[in-house]
Amino acid sequence: MDFKLTEDQEMMVSATRRVAKEFIEPLIAQYPVTEPLPKSVMLQIFEQLAELGITAPRLSVEDGGGGLNMLDFGMIVEQLPPVIALSLISHEGTISRINAGCPEEIRQAYLPDLIAGKKIACTANTEPEAGSDSNAVKTKLEIEGEYGYITGRKIWITNASICDVMNVSCYSGTDENGRPLTRRVLVDLSQSDVEIREIPVSGLQQGHLSEVVFERTKVPVSHIIGEPGDAGKYLTLAWNANRPLLGLMTVHDAQKALEMSREYVSTRKQFGKLLGAHQLVQQDLSDIETQVISARLMCYYALSCMDQGLRSNGTSAMAKRYATHASERAINLAMQLHGGMGISQELGLERMWRDARMFQVPDGTMGILAMIHGRELTGMAAFR
Ligand SMILES: Cc1cc2nc3c(=O)[nH]c(=O)nc-3n(C[C@H](O)[C@H](O)[C@H](O)COP(=O)(O)OP(=O)(O)OC[C@H]3O[C@@H](n4cnc5c(N)ncnc54)[C@H](O)[C@@H]3O)c2cc1C
Repeated sequence: MDFKLTEDQEMMVSATRRVAKEFIEPLIAQYPVTEPLPKSVMLQIFEQLAELGITAPRLSVEDGGGGLNMLDFGMIVEQLPPVIALSLISHEGTISRINAGCPEEIRQAYLPDLIAGKKIACTANTEPEAGSDSNAVKTKLEIEGEYGYITGRKIWITNASICDVMNVSCYSGTDENGRPLTRRVLVDLSQSDVEIREIPVSGLQQGHLSEVVFERTKVPVSHIIGEPGDAGKYLTLAWNANRPLLGLMTVHDAQKALEMSREYVSTRKQFGKLLGAHQLVQQDLSDIETQVISARLMCYYALSCMDQGLRSNGTSAMAKRYATHASERAINLAMQLHGGMGISQELGLERMWRDARMFQVPDGTMGILAMIHGRELTGMAAFR
């Protein structure tokens, strides 16, 4: 085993880091930190991400994607500002779902612009009454002749307010055993009426997290995709791999918090000497770096297991649960090392801390992740 990056990995990581530092970070710094970025800005960023070849990393090159393995993609995602990385994952995960289960005409109608970053996609599954229990969706699909009609409410949907096309999970009756059948419907926002409201939240405030209301939203039947009951399968297609990616998004900020702390303790003096020369400060720094590196390695390990085709549901859940928590603690310790400055809005550490906390909810809450891991360890599901 070799922990050294290959030449290709070095190149991909440094190209992404350069775009993040020279283009994305200065661009988003021009906008208020407490408000969702305008769609026009997100489109500029998506075009850059397309040039890096990361808008459809999980699609093969023949299908127009990046053909990346998950470990490489994880290293790339880690270089992006978390608020942008989360938007990218929502977009590219939806692209994977469209690619995997759509008729050719739909793929041709949507994938080229989505892959080019000219349009933005998202997936809407969660509802007020269907969160962790993601199969319990009630948003109803009724088919009448050439059209389907969607009625219901989705919540906490990343990218909804800036998207052009939304992959929506809908209830469409039950099978012969009374089990709910969930279907996927592609809603094209240029053709269908949907009400979208941003939800004010504690972190990732330049991002887009919305409630979506469908009131007999009309869609052509050609946009009702796949077989009745297959929505869950296509959702989980991306979730497993998303989890370590979300962990790495928090590692991005935890690493930054570590660097800020090293810098601060080597310039600020108290009790006649630099903070960094006090034993307890060194212990805090040691704890921060331990958390950053262990979180990063666990996420890389989970992604590498996927690339090797190993069963990785438990590993991936473990990686996200550990990394998001470790990063949050690392940033919290960095705030502590900065004293009053740590809680100032000016420095940005408190914002990073709130952002890291946000990642403990999507694609599996901490409790759900523990139970996915536990199911793998025991062979027993403890969900119901
Ligand atoms: C930043 C962000 C982005 C998101 N993006 C999207 C998106 O793009 N698309 C989308 O569809 N959704 C998205 N979501 C929604 C997210 O997937 C849900 O919020 C998540 O699945 C949890 O659902 P919930 O909020 O209803 O919590 P609940 O399911 O109500 O859980 C509440 C608490 O109960 C615990 N709990 C639940 N069930 C059990 C159980 N069986 N045993 C023990 N404890 C349990 C949970 O661990 C949690 O602590 C996003 C959420 C966030 C915060």
